[in-house]
Amino acid sequence: EETRKEIPPEIVERVKKLREEIEYHNYRYYVLDSPVISDAEYDALMHELRELEAKYPELITPDSPTQRVGFKPAEGFKEVPHREPMLSLDDAMEESEVIEFDRRIKRFLNLPENMPIEYTVEPKIDGLAIELVYEQGALRVGATRGDGYLGEDVTNNLKTIKTIPLRLRKFSEDAPEIPSRIDVRGEVYMTKEEFKKINEERIARKEIPFANPRNAAAGSLRQLDPQVTAKRKLDLFCYGVGYTEGYTFKTQWEVLQTLPKWGLKVNPMVKLASNIEEAIQYHKEIQRIRDTLPYEIDGIVIKVNDLALWERLGTKARSPRYALAYKFQPTQSTTQLIDVVFQV
Ligand code: NAD
Repeated sequence: EETRKEIPPEIVERVKKLREEIEYHNYRYYVLDSPVISDAEYDALMHELRELEAKYPELITPDSPTQRVGFKPAEGFKEVPHREPMLSLDDAMEESEVIEFDRRIKRFLNLPENMPIEYTVEPKIDGLAIELVYEQGALRVGATRGDGYLGEDVTNNLKTIKTIPLRLRKFSEDAPEIPSRIDVRGEVYMTKEEFKKINEERIARKEIPFANPRNAAAGSLRQLDPQVTAKRKLDLFCYGVGYTEGYTFKTQWEVLQTLPKWGLKVNPMVKLASNIEEAIQYHKEIQRIRDTLPYEIDGIVIKVNDLALWERLGTKARSPRYALAYKFQPTQSTTQLIDVVFQV
């Protein structure tokens, strides 16, 4: 109570205002799939809020947007609880922050500073996260990330995506037995070409175009009528597993190598880096070929390879300590498109 009095009222007011604004933009982005500001502008609001909360920790509340992931399921969808929460990722834009991420992990684990840590490196697909629950090899339910704990049931919509197997099978001699239950995580995305096509159609019908392929993918998947989803070409890259029964993975690399043997699509550009320098090098390589890819990516994801270390590192309120999104510098495309929307 005493410390509270020291916080200038204009700060309390600003924090309240920022939270209201961010909540509104979260609603536009996560519920309506129709943002009205660019990601860079949104990130600036979040950044300001994080800084104020760091300076005045008494102002942090559990429901602050800085402590939460995504948004609660929208009305009309059945809720699906995730057995293991689907969190967000800490992000970095500068090489120095990536070096610091590696150092922080070693400090946390009490490892010598010069000991290399192995990381998987993967393109960060700009789509939306989903979870597929397979029981006895059969797809039981598919859900969006939602607020990380409760997702939206989009099973029938996901079933319209041709690359999502309805049943897991051993597609290779050395494939392990299919686990009795496995929650597979991945990113649903729309290709740049399909995005262009759909927006041209929308503009021709005098409908508001989607801001970017991510919003188009989310808007196409989060439909109450699966027939709408079926008309849009969506695809999926799997990148991880949640709750699993009947099989124990030892490394993230093993996850990425095993999922395709069961019929699940993994991005072919994933790699194993022997240390943080190789991860940084990978970021440069991927950035160089970014525009030649048929889908949008907004950076790379760096994950500690050893899953035993994931246990020891644990998670914070909204993100795990063992992973980092190393993003590319923002492009202007979203802002430009939104300007177009407001001219319509
Ligand atoms: P994020 O998108 O930055 O990172 C987490 C997500 O990365 C995961 O949930 C997963 O979906 C995805 N991902 C892709 N490839 C992956 C891989 N190989 N391994 C693991 N994960 C992978 O974080 P977020 O919390 O989903 O969203 C924040 C983003 O949304 C920011 O970029 C923000 O600007 C944007 N946003 C914008 C608005 C707006 O109004 N413009 C509003 C809300 C959020």
